[in-house]
Amino acid sequence: MSDFTKFIRDIPNFPKPGVSFKDITPLLGNGSAFNAAVEVFVNRFRSEVIDVIVGIDARGFILGAALAHRLGIGFVPIRKSGKLPFDCYEVTYDLEYGADTLAIHQDAFPRGSRVLVCDDVLATGGTLAASVELVKKVGGNIVGIALFLELTEFEGRKKVGNQPIFSLVEF
Ligand code: AMP
Repeated sequence: MSDFTKFIRDIPNFPKPGVSFKDITPLLGNGSAFNAAVEVFVNRFRSEVIDVIVGIDARGFILGAALAHRLGIGFVPIRKSGKLPFDCYEVTYDLEYGADTLAIHQDAFPRGSRVLVCDDVLATGGTLAASVELVKKVGGNIVGIALFLELTEFEGRKKVGNQPIFSLVEF
């Protein structure tokens, strides 16, 4: 299977007017499509040395956990502020209106670990840039970033800096 776009639908004006939301639930809900998508990432990253997967709250957990399981390595969540129970590092970043804070456990992985970061969608890049900062605070070396979708019009890669980003689908 190579055309994953038919499993991604546009929801106009969600969650607010003017936003065209890329809904990946049809992809996740179709067993062969989801499996084929995860295998694309497995093939892309199987030759890399990766110690741990970091997934971003909340849809990044889906790809991240599937990939961690498939590669036989651990999974670490980055969560919204106030959700993780142990000592955390936090990074606050700007949204279109206001700001948001993401957190990671300070002991999430050993310093020097080789990390693959997973999320569902790259738009403006604010979420991913904050997550990259968090991984660095813990002492991780980012091997790559894996995404279901990249919305290229927002040029999110520029905000994330010089990181190897691999997207299943670009719009
Ligand atoms: P950003 O920080 O702008 O790159 O936004 C990334 C986060 O917001 C991702 O974790 C997505 O879950 C979500 N997101 C932003 N824009 C969209 C969109 N058009 N469709 C679906 N999810 C989106």
